[in-house]
Amino acid sequence: MDLAIFSGAPFAVEAGSGKLLKSGSRMQLGNGERALFWHDPWLNNSALKTQFPRLFSIARLPLASVAAMAQINDRGCQWNIPWIRTLRIRDLEEWDRLYQLLLQVRFQEDKEDKMMWEPNKSGSYSVRSFYTELSKGSGSSLNPCLQQIIPKLWKNLVPYKIEVFFWLALQGRINTKKKLALLKILPMEEIICSLCKSDPEDTSHLFLHCPFAHEIWGWWWKMWDISWVWPSNLDQAFEQWAFPSSNKFFRKIWSSIFLVIVWSIWKERNCRIFNGQMNHPEYIQNLILVRLCWWVRAWKEPFPFSVEEVIRNPKSLFWKMEARNHPRKTRPSQPSLTWFVGASSLMQRGSLGGYLLSGDNRVICLFSTPCSPLPLNSAIVAATHRALQISLNIASIKSQPIRVVSSAWQVSQWCSSPEGGPSNLSFILNFIRSLHKKGMATSFGFLNGCGKKVDRMLSAKGLSRFSDVVVWL
Ligand SMILES: [Zn+2]
Repeated sequence: MDLAIFSGAPFAVEAGSGKLLKSGSRMQLGNGERALFWHDPWLNNSALKTQFPRLFSIARLPLASVAAMAQINDRGCQWNIPWIRTLRIRDLEEWDRLYQLLLQVRFQEDKEDKMMWEPNKSGSYSVRSFYTELSKGSGSSLNPCLQQIIPKLWKNLVPYKIEVFFWLALQGRINTKKKLALLKILPMEEIICSLCKSDPEDTSHLFLHCPFAHEIWGWWWKMWDISWVWPSNLDQAFEQWAFPSSNKFFRKIWSSIFLVIVWSIWKERNCRIFNGQMNHPEYIQNLILVRLCWWVRAWKEPFPFSVEEVIRNPKSLFWKMEARNHPRKTRPSQPSLTWFVGASSLMQRGSLGGYLLSGDNRVICLFSTPCSPLPLNSAIVAATHRALQISLNIASIKSQPIRVVSSAWQVSQWCSSPEGGPSNLSFILNFIRSLHKKGMATSFGFLNGCGKKVDRMLSAKGLSRFSDVVVWL
């Protein structure tokens, strides 16, 4: 069966879930080129090889597509299924039944064959529907703690294969050494944990109590300045896992990190067993942040930091999506002065520029400064800095609230928060942030297309973007 739509799932090793996936899927026939005649559930909701095992055992082309077995001509569809020998009387009984089914087949030449997931009404696969089906099978055996965990787990914060892996781990259904020994696959004397080489490897030891796991968890706790004591079991640990904060985004990070750490410990354990390779906890810690950042990108929040920035400063994960991200919706009190700043880079030359708008929408100042080519964000930080420096020089301007607006959303975030941003910009960012202390009321905003507006304004006043000028109007 083609499992492409479930790519990445660990089902090859999870017989129960694999069976479920197969029983829940159905191939919707289009032109018949993708569906495998014997293996895919394209006719009568199950594979022909299971409906007609006798015929399958004598099929000459067991991997042929549906289209390859059919000939469409003026008289309709004719089936031409090659066998390794002539059909015998007992085969004919199965063939009669199959033939009756084949008579009803209608191709849709203009469509491709499509795998459908039956439990979902739309036919498309979703983790929730898969989980619902999975728990139907094991529903009666779920302990109350697991029942409570369900809404906490299936949140789509990490790839579903990890949610499924964790769900199986919670139920003790992953192949730890202790479990393999209980199944008599591994001798009892070989169940020592591959990470610490001291205790038997079961789920709670591996993910919670193993000194290796403890080092990873300890790193995370220390980062947030908290101490934590694990209960004895993984399900209880996950149930208790919460971070009391009003920061919604960080609460999502907190929920996800549990799964990311557990998954990363499992990967390291496998790496040691199957590749004989041992990674240092520090390496795993970075890997955890890399994975987390990758998955955060799939969330709706526009988390502004790159993986490198998070590794350099993991505290940037405590990022808040604040109301000022939507300046048009919530602009509390319009400052009387607004700088619009922008930057551009042309071949070997870069330039910064900006114009200052008064409360009654008059342009009162314009500036333009050449600079070496910089990444856009850095250039806009420099432009913001320049605009504020100009404002500082004029007492009547300095005493009014000033807003600096640019088309770099990240820059408005960096300038608005007490820390964060690329380390090479710390000096300028700290200067911008410190203006508050000097009594200057500054705020920062984002406006799409602002850079172009700055360019237009400069050229309308006859200024080249590469001249170094400040003009008061
Ligand atoms: Zn261990």
